[in-house]
Amino acid sequence: MKLDAPTLVIVTVFVTVVMGALYLLSWSQARRTRALGFLGAAQIVGAGAVTLFGLRDIVPDWLSIGLANAAMLAAFGLIWGGARSFEGRRVPAAWIAAGPLAWLAACLVPPFYASLGARVILASAVAGLYCALAARTLWHHRGEKLPSRAPAAILLASEALLIWTRIPATLALPVPPTGTPTQTAWVAILCFAALLYTVAVSVLFMALAKERLEAEQRRVADTDPLTGIANRRALAADARRALAGGPCALLLFDLDHFKRVNDTFGHAVGDAVLVGFCAAAGQVLPEGAAFGRLGGEEFACLLPGAGAADAAAVAETVRHAVAAMRPDLLPGLAVTVSIGVARGTGDFETLLGQADRALYQAKAQGRDRVVLAAPELRQVA
Ligand code: GH3
Ligand code: MG
Ligand code: MG
Repeated sequence: MKLDAPTLVIVTVFVTVVMGALYLLSWSQARRTRALGFLGAAQIVGAGAVTLFGLRDIVPDWLSIGLANAAMLAAFGLIWGGARSFEGRRVPAAWIAAGPLAWLAACLVPPFYASLGARVILASAVAGLYCALAARTLWHHRGEKLPSRAPAAILLASEALLIWTRIPATLALPVPPTGTPTQTAWVAILCFAALLYTVAVSVLFMALAKERLEAEQRRVADTDPLTGIANRRALAADARRALAGGPCALLLFDLDHFKRVNDTFGHAVGDAVLVGFCAAAGQVLPEGAAFGRLGGEEFACLLPGAGAADAAAVAETVRHAVAAMRPDLLPGLAVTVSIGVARGTGDFETLLGQADRALYQAKAQGRDRVVLAAPELRQVA
């Protein structure tokens, strides 16, 4: 196959400009994702660099060498800026500008400008550094699990390594004289490789933005907005998974005389009590417990694998923690909770029904207590 250098350059420029424009468009529609704006800008600036590289011997050298490399370095800097922005970090504009500016300053030194080897080494060192920094930024934030994070970091790191291999290659191999067919083909191939990387990196960034949005939507759909704990839907889903693995204990909580709290002190104090209850219970519930708000002032906690006695002990601990709690807005207010406990396998709703009957008894017996559903009573006794 014969690689036609001008064709490769034209294809590279065309694809990159179209992609860059699409990214800028998607950023303008969803301003929250500034990273896509950086990626779009990187592609447009990169396409400008490739155009200038391709016009070697047609336009003056200060354009096809000096400005072209500066634009190429700015494009890599913008990719790093995009990665920083994606992670919510400050975008270091001065450092992004530093690479291209250092390059332009070096070009003003005649011996440097005259040496192709020196130019390749400086440009490769800086471009590789920007890629490596972008990879490092993504890797540093791997605590936020997104499927495309590792591929994007690996891709950027491999691009850095590929770019840096040009440094020993330049030192080891004789530099071909400029303008030869081999050298022109090399420039075209490098541009094309850079295009493939840019396309892949951009696609992965788009995927990352989408994955983050989906994770956020999933979190919102599963979370109770007032207390921040799981809502009924999420708790039921967790419960079904846990119950499929064997018997579980279910604690059903209902705050005592909560309507009175609302009526006497207002809804805001009521809300603070609900938040305080979740904090107090959350602190004493064992690891592996699935805790959620069923609605109103009713909460539930699933303890996978727990026996009736253990579940009753956990319930007592929560009851004491609630009695000891001091709500933010009204520290003098005494809050108590009644708790129904059931244990079993199979259906979550059935288990909930049993716990609800036990809870009803706790209310009937005077509140502020733990009552076990009938079969559990026998088991504990
Ligand atoms: P019991 O001891 O029998 O459980 O009595 P109770 O007053 O706690 O029970 P009831 O079911 O009569 O009242 C529950 C109250 O919870 C009524 C409702 O206004 C209030 N409520 C439900 N959701 C919220 C909420 O998100 N915030 C506040 N502040 N109140 C809520
Ligand atoms: Mg209730
Ligand atoms: Mg109540």
